[in-house]
Amino acid sequence: DTPLHALDPDVAAAVDAELRRQQSTLEMIASENFAPVAVMEAQGSVLTNKYAEGYPGRRYYGGCEHVDVVERIAIDRIKALFGAEHANVQPHSGAQANAAAMFALLKPGDTIMGLDLAHGGHLTHGMKINFSGKLYDVVPYHVGDDGLVDLAEVERLAKEKKPKLIVAGWSAYPRQLDFAAFRRIADEVGAYLMVDMAHFAGLVAAGLHPNPVPHAHVVTTTTHKTLGGPRGGVILSTAELAKKINSAVFPGQQGGPLEHVIAAKAVAFKIAAGEEFRERQRRTLEGARVLAERLVRDDAKAAGVSVLTGGTDVHLVLVDLRDSELDGQQAEDRLHEIGITVNRNAVPNDPRPPMVTSGLRIGTPALATRGFTAEDFAEVADVIAEALKPSYDADALKARVTALADKHPLYPGLDR
Ligand code: PLP
Repeated sequence: DTPLHALDPDVAAAVDAELRRQQSTLEMIASENFAPVAVMEAQGSVLTNKYAEGYPGRRYYGGCEHVDVVERIAIDRIKALFGAEHANVQPHSGAQANAAAMFALLKPGDTIMGLDLAHGGHLTHGMKINFSGKLYDVVPYHVGDDGLVDLAEVERLAKEKKPKLIVAGWSAYPRQLDFAAFRRIADEVGAYLMVDMAHFAGLVAAGLHPNPVPHAHVVTTTTHKTLGGPRGGVILSTAELAKKINSAVFPGQQGGPLEHVIAAKAVAFKIAAGEEFRERQRRTLEGARVLAERLVRDDAKAAGVSVLTGGTDVHLVLVDLRDSELDGQQAEDRLHEIGITVNRNAVPNDPRPPMVTSGLRIGTPALATRGFTAEDFAEVADVIAEALKPSYDADALKARVTALADKHPLYPGLDR
């Protein structure tokens, strides 16, 4: 029963340092968030010890009476949250959820369509060396010159290539997709529609983004992005597909479920059904809007900075640096230097290589969780705009970042 700090000071020191990093910097990676202490408590519980292959009431191991309770709670909560007929809460991650959903609906060699990685799609939507690109015949679709998904292209390609599955969803896209239009196209060619709402699930739960569930055969998500829970994945589907989905997750893709993570998911789903969560998601959206507004002003334009699609409807802004003397890597490094964490991101038809890029993806979920208001986001935006100018005062900007971090303490109870 030796505590971590005594047993393994090396690992403990790195964990402590990571806590301090999260507390003292501004986390603006669009796919990150801060899990509540109760979620981490559930995830750090004795449930990690339990083997529970199978599903509640139908396990391949004894002693599952308590993890059955936990898994049923998680299933019932997420079904209610999104109005889904069926939920599988066992996928270990978003990538696992997508792999299992595709495994359920497709055979190797079948044709799928997904948003091109370089245009904002995810690896699992058909990237060449991902399982999705290796197992399936991929027809990517794209955004047009306006930065919006080109539905006419989706329809044309679907009719021509007759995919078995169309994936609607994204990792880097600042607008909402028209799920009804995707479903109409899928129906026209007899394809399944799978929506990957990993990024925007929290906004959907809060009623601030259209819900894909009524339109899609299958909806996958992560639980750790806007949804604010532990790292993990979930698959929602129609009742008709329930059996196929469940057997694709186990035994198709996974062995024993992570019941401690499922417990943490259940806690997160409870939180996501509450008013406080909705208020936080409203600040998330407001923060992204404020950020976009301030990064399209004249002084930003003068520095060659602009925003793809001119704004945002979601929790992130895509900064376009094609006219800037900074590339994506340099911009990411500059923000890192002053204490703001973002990731560089390719813009459509990016002239620079993928490891460098000409863009940044900046998200507001983590700071909204920290309590940032529209006023705080305006200050963050001004700091970012200053940092992306040809000359900037790193020390002064760093001090402004520290003031914002100090104003909204993170995990004060975890300090040692
Ligand atoms: N789907 C989308 C749209 C994502 O953006 C991501 C992660 O960034 C994933 C799936 C994969 O999630 P994970 O990293 O949990 O495997």
